[in-house]
Amino acid sequence: MTGEESSKSALDTRLLIGGQRVAGEAGALTVENPATEAELARVATASEDQVDAAIAVARQAQRAWERTPAVERAEALHEVAARLRTNATELAELMTLEGGKPLVENTDEVGWTAAAFDYYAEIGRDSAGRVIPSIESTQLALVVKEPVGVVACIVPWNYPLLLLAWKLAPALAGGNVTVCKPSELTPLSTLALAPLLEHLPPGVVNLLAGAGDVGERIVAAPDVDCVAFTGSVPTGKRIAAACAERVARINLEMGGKDPFIVCSDVGERIDVAAKGGAWAAFLNAGQVCTSAERFYVMADVYDDYVQAFVDYTGGLRVGDPLDPDTDIGPMVSAAQRQKVSDQLEAAVAAGAEVVIGADAAGRERGHYFSPAVVTGAPVETELLREETFGPVAPIVPVDSLDQAIELANSTRFGLGANIYTRDLQTVVRCMREIKAGTVWFNDPLTDNDAGPFGGFKQSGLGRELGREGLEAFQETKHVHIETEIAPKEWWYPYGETGGSG
Ligand code: NAD
Repeated sequence: MTGEESSKSALDTRLLIGGQRVAGEAGALTVENPATEAELARVATASEDQVDAAIAVARQAQRAWERTPAVERAEALHEVAARLRTNATELAELMTLEGGKPLVENTDEVGWTAAAFDYYAEIGRDSAGRVIPSIESTQLALVVKEPVGVVACIVPWNYPLLLLAWKLAPALAGGNVTVCKPSELTPLSTLALAPLLEHLPPGVVNLLAGAGDVGERIVAAPDVDCVAFTGSVPTGKRIAAACAERVARINLEMGGKDPFIVCSDVGERIDVAAKGGAWAAFLNAGQVCTSAERFYVMADVYDDYVQAFVDYTGGLRVGDPLDPDTDIGPMVSAAQRQKVSDQLEAAVAAGAEVVIGADAAGRERGHYFSPAVVTGAPVETELLREETFGPVAPIVPVDSLDQAIELANSTRFGLGANIYTRDLQTVVRCMREIKAGTVWFNDPLTDNDAGPFGGFKQSGLGRELGREGLEAFQETKHVHIETEIAPKEWWYPYGETGGSG
């Protein structure tokens, strides 16, 4: 049996509602293998009644889960991490089949997913708030952290398990219950988590499948207290508007247009800056929210940088994502590929030049798009202003750090930024002046579970990961305790005691 056949034969595409595997009762969606364009599976989606049922069972499960001692919740999350690691091979293969990301990257993704569960298992049992100085010595004053309640986790297709874990793990660690919806393009790996969650009380995690309509019903439900979303800016804005109606909490991780600045002082390490740039631009075929999408390179090293970048790009292997030697797989869908190709064509019409790439990599089937290096794109083109989400690296010469920083800050996004430099003053200036949620120096795109992740401006609202990622799913209560029952001098009557103080 091929890897594809074995994964398909073992597929269970049922939903998880209240601890039960149930078939979806609405229309089926077709999951395609983006490398072959063959149908991989049909998944029956959640009906309106099933969405409502999932939210209702989550609500029922919430109180007991909140009362479960934090150390027991921690054990349950560590168990999820262990099961993820045990099933890493099958999960990574399934993610590769449905999403097209190379197997090596999906194997890493399962590892990072498990690490997020381990991290929040410990963070969740480390603190329940803090003691603050009381107003009087007979008093105790506390800041208590409590769960928000029912959390909806709505995620995109590019990192289906990791981006789910960044919501699910802290939500559960904080005593919340969840209703999760993967992207309609990649529901299989999320539904395959169901057996790995069997040890959790029924209803604590519910897994639904469906497209935007299912997401919309979840978001609109009065019993959903918080929506944690990763996806596009337009969808994020819709979710924010729907949640504003009933003042539900939101945590939004949206698009990016990350700049990548290369300074003259990199000197003889210009080749490393080029390799780092290519990886940052082409990882997962450029379908990373923090993909480097605009390169600003000091004029005196521009020619050398473009040459090194193009040479390196020419050696990358585009092909079957299940092949361990493949660097870059197909894009996720025909529509996503078309969007990238249209944006690039418009830039070329405006005067840009494609130095290498931007073809189908010699393949007749599959949504392949060979990594492209582009020069001469005018500053007002969408290629330099709006999210591309594909393997395209536009490189622009700049005359000064001032100009690089100004251009870096010139879009409506502010997710991440990369800088290659050895100069301490440049580091400090960029760190302070670039408006982005993460600023990486000389090591692009490295995530850290303890480091908050999210965006400035239209790239998002709130943070995932780190302690901030747990606080996103916590309510804050100030508790004021007086241990003596005695009248206070500032009560009525005012006249004799000199007022209310
Ligand atoms: P998308 O917005 O189309 O869909 C994301 C999810 O939202 C899917 O599950 C989808 O079914 C659901 N959805 C769609 N309409 C909805 C609605 N009205 N109500 C509720 N849910 C709805 O995004 P996508 O195409 O799946 O993902 C690509 C986008 O994700 C890119 O813009 C990328 O930048 C962004 N992204 C951001 C981050 C980050 O952390 N900032 C990470 C990865 C991807």
